[in-house]
Amino acid sequence: MSNRTPLMAGNWKMNLDHLEANHLVQGLAMELKDAGHDFAKCEAVVIPPFTDLRTVQTVVDADDLEIKYGAQDVSIHDNGAYTGEISTAMLTKLGCSYVVMGHSERREYHNESDELVGAKARKALDAGMTPILCCGEALEIRKAGTHVEFVLGQIRAALKGWSAEDVARIVIAYEPIWAIGTGETATAADAQEVCGAIRAALREDFGEATAEATRVLYGGSAKPGNIVELMAQPDIDGALIGGASLKADSFAAMCRFY
Ligand code: PEP
Repeated sequence: MSNRTPLMAGNWKMNLDHLEANHLVQGLAMELKDAGHDFAKCEAVVIPPFTDLRTVQTVVDADDLEIKYGAQDVSIHDNGAYTGEISTAMLTKLGCSYVVMGHSERREYHNESDELVGAKARKALDAGMTPILCCGEALEIRKAGTHVEFVLGQIRAALKGWSAEDVARIVIAYEPIWAIGTGETATAADAQEVCGAIRAALREDFGEATAEATRVLYGGSAKPGNIVELMAQPDIDGALIGGASLKADSFAAMCRFY
């Protein structure tokens, strides 16, 4: 049994306007309260689009909710002529505690490199937020059997030059691309293989304390029906959840895996 607090993070992607966001967070709060959810046993984090963050902040603050929230991306710049970008200061002002970076959809559609992903993680951490650094292989890589090497390469490139103390403060999300939004979940054993290899690499590169402290999530068609088995794996500390996080009852059920 590790000391790592389990974490369920709901990545809403480009879904839900601010009215729907209000509805979902209120619904989630109610589901968790009715079920007597213990946030010490599992953190519940929502990751809405930027345009919903102010609404989520208002709902959370109004009822002093223990639900946390974060953003789907962040700029590496502080301010200035970067049209369309959002800075860390803007996010912290809105009460964000988490920032996702390196999601495969951003790597693919916005050509984000491991170095850029690492710089975003650095920026988020320096601003006092917790980076959720995503990694994961495409189907061809999985079929070629080089998925572990590929994923470790992504992480090592992003965290090059980092201190062990800083690495211990981030969250890593392993999301095999072939399992995202496809209904095709990696088996618990597949997910454990890579999450275990990530922890072993953290141990090798940054030492035992960091490997023990860093949370590693699985993402890819995680849902109420498979979360218990996933969470039973020794190196899986939670999930990054897309589709199943858009409904209050299914996301709440996943937070209550224990
Ligand atoms: C994701 O986008 O991070 C994700 C895991 O999506 P889904 O749960 O829908 O596969």
